[in-house]
Amino acid sequence: MVASDGPTASWHTVSLPEDNAKAFWGYPSEGDQHTVRSSIRAAEGLLNSIESAGSTWPKAFWQEAWHGSPCLPLAESCPTMQVQGIVTPDRIEDVSGALEEHWKRTHSTTAIDARHDAVFGMAFYCIRILKELLGIGIGTSILGRLALRTIVEVRINLHYLLKEENLELWKKWREYGVGQAKLNALKFDDSLEPPKYIDIESIEQITGEDLWEEFLTINIGGWSGLDLRRLSEKAGLKDLYDSHYSWTSGYTHGTWGPIRESCYQTCGNPLHRLHRYPERKSLRETVEDAAHVVDDMLDDVDFAYPGYGHRITEKTKK
Ligand SMILES: [Zn+2]
Repeated sequence: MVASDGPTASWHTVSLPEDNAKAFWGYPSEGDQHTVRSSIRAAEGLLNSIESAGSTWPKAFWQEAWHGSPCLPLAESCPTMQVQGIVTPDRIEDVSGALEEHWKRTHSTTAIDARHDAVFGMAFYCIRILKELLGIGIGTSILGRLALRTIVEVRINLHYLLKEENLELWKKWREYGVGQAKLNALKFDDSLEPPKYIDIESIEQITGEDLWEEFLTINIGGWSGLDLRRLSEKAGLKDLYDSHYSWTSGYTHGTWGPIRESCYQTCGNPLHRLHRYPERKSLRETVEDAAHVVDDMLDDVDFAYPGYGHRITEKTKK
């Protein structure tokens, strides 16, 4: 093996045992590559050790390789999973319509009913997200992961509230939300203009419709005083939290892992040393996972207000 360093060329000859040389030349494209890999790594280490510290040829070699050959995909992009056929807009509409009927059947008072509003509201909210996920390309996008994370969070909160079954806790959950609305309304009472997407009248209405604004306490932090991980433990949904929340949270916060997964591809050109290059990759489908979590929420609705048998991914329960 030889190496040249331009004007200050240095040459090295490396002798290999015959067995190793044969193994290198006949590098198996499949099957057992372990013995060959380790001896190649050892030989590379040897070359490194004899190369002079100030050598410039490796850098020049890789620079030339980089400028002189194109990036190539390492492998086919991950296959896009087919969304289970039953998760369709029509199916979601049917389930949502039936839920509205069940809401009517179980709505017993025009007074504030924090439990009823919360149980159905959480379900309607997640069904709406699920339907939006069916938009073209959304399920395999970054937004799909944000959607799934929200559905999981709402599911954990609902299950926790039902497990605790304490009217004060239902009220506390609602008042926290109203307090957040008030906090936002107050921000834009000052010299700060609301951004275009904020409907300030809508927020002010939410702030004032339960009780007079002046009596409302604003809680900072989580509504329950517990983080979602702790809530999931108390709700018996730690597995759901572990399965879905951590990686999708990386997408919400824009940490390196999700950025790397969604915006970079590994180059398969052997002259490019497996570097990354920008590519907007299609990610794995989220719709089916989200639909299962929504179905679990519908089980909770049925538990809280019996008589609701519709599900999205399963056959309608009797
Ligand atoms: Zn490349």
